[in-house]
Amino acid sequence: MNRDPLVPLVSSPFRHYINGGWETGATTGVSLNPSDLDEPVGDYVRADARQTDTAIEAANAAFREWSWGSAQRRADALDAIGSEMLARRDELGRLLAREVGKTLPDAVAEATRAGQTFKFFAAEALRTLAEPVASARAGVEIDVSREPLGVVGIITPWSAPLAIAAARLGAALAHGNCVVFKPAESAPGCAAALATLFSRAGLPAGVFNLVMGSGRQVGARIVSHPLVAAISFSGSADTGTRILQTAAARQARVQLDMGGKNPFVVLADANLDGAVEAALSGAYGSAGQRSTASSRLIVERAVFEPFVDALQVKLARLTVDHALKHGTDIGPLANATQLERNLDYVRIGQQEGAHLLRGGRQLERATRGYYFEPALFIGEPEHRIAREDMFGPLAVVLIADDYDHALHLANDTAYGLCAGICTRSLSRARHFRRHVHSGLVTINLPTTAVEHHAPTGGRKASAYGTTDAAFWTALKTAYVAG
Ligand code: NAD
Repeated sequence: MNRDPLVPLVSSPFRHYINGGWETGATTGVSLNPSDLDEPVGDYVRADARQTDTAIEAANAAFREWSWGSAQRRADALDAIGSEMLARRDELGRLLAREVGKTLPDAVAEATRAGQTFKFFAAEALRTLAEPVASARAGVEIDVSREPLGVVGIITPWSAPLAIAAARLGAALAHGNCVVFKPAESAPGCAAALATLFSRAGLPAGVFNLVMGSGRQVGARIVSHPLVAAISFSGSADTGTRILQTAAARQARVQLDMGGKNPFVVLADANLDGAVEAALSGAYGSAGQRSTASSRLIVERAVFEPFVDALQVKLARLTVDHALKHGTDIGPLANATQLERNLDYVRIGQQEGAHLLRGGRQLERATRGYYFEPALFIGEPEHRIAREDMFGPLAVVLIADDYDHALHLANDTAYGLCAGICTRSLSRARHFRRHVHSGLVTINLPTTAVEHHAPTGGRKASAYGTTDAAFWTALKTAYVAG
């Protein structure tokens, strides 16, 4: 295998990696560059149900050896993948920027986080999961342990194609499972680059498999296949709900990370400059295409005007352009569906009577791409733009009469992924932390300021199940007498 940093990790066409070998597919698609539609990233292959089955069967066949093998072997493989990712973060970042439109610094930061995540799980592979319980009887020992599950299907979105994949692949493999990985169709190049790293990390054939293709065909096949013991999914709430129903019918284990409508509360006593910066970065960073983005800004009446004025000024200074161009603050939206969706929400907001303060238009740049002017609305809590997962650089500001009203508005949503508050009051911050209905909470930080090694919760329509060791393993309690 060539690890020469001058040889690219992937080249078109991006292929499946099944049972330790590269495979072509039933059909092909094109991965577009949203910054420049005339410069595609490459072709990729799509699997059909039969090829998906082959990958699942390969993972199943590899399970016995892998799960019984040494934890050190698992740790070494994950560590090698993490090390190579970190060494090639610039190349991976460039690929990611071209494929989903993240700015280059943002994309390199994601590649770095993904590399660190693999290294984190390398160490986790060696952690002992024994839970000692003393027997009530003399001469009997109770031994509570956790065992790998078998084949895990990992289905991911395009929004953070390296970081989300690293978190789920790392956890599944560290705990001794084999995987079938199905990435989103807008990010096949990143998935193929990951597969290249896996292909030279010393894993037995079949432990890691990459199968690309549509959700309806490849994804649905993984979810319904009897050999797949567990499914880890990140994506929209609609798809997640469908997956849950199918998996529940055959009692497969499921973990879902879904959408959000994350509130960011600014109280009158907040450091206003800091709050505006945090709102700007939380709502518009990565073009708002992050599950932790805060598209619902809830601002106490006393500081509403200065907050909105300052945010508008900062917004006007952001440069929207080609993701690889130096000085770009916001790249294009990731794909045509995203652009349409955001333009639709601007229309919906206006039709419902929300006040568009700025932005919301498609932009033209030197290259043809999905450029969108970041938008800011003043709205009402019942507006759809204040309630739905828009997933773009589009935020709505709501007025709160006081802290209690702000907390009520923050919780008035079907989602519960994350929430933030800016305040100098320790008691309000503590109260918010305790009473906001979300899995993550940030205080005087953007909602997006989360770290890869800390667990991520999620409530209501944002998440189902857990991502800790309990998900990736099966509990076994042994009673032993000599
Ligand atoms: P999506 O739900 O359309 O697709 C996600 C993945 O599911 C893709 O790989 C897709 O091909 C697959 N899929 C689609 N239909 C399927 C089916 N019937 N069976 C099995 N798999 C299927 O989401 P998206 O557009 O790729 O991503 C954007 C969404 O993801 C947003 O709603 C965003 O909030 C959410 N998201 C959540 C998190 C999180 O951690 N909570 C992270 C990133 C993105």
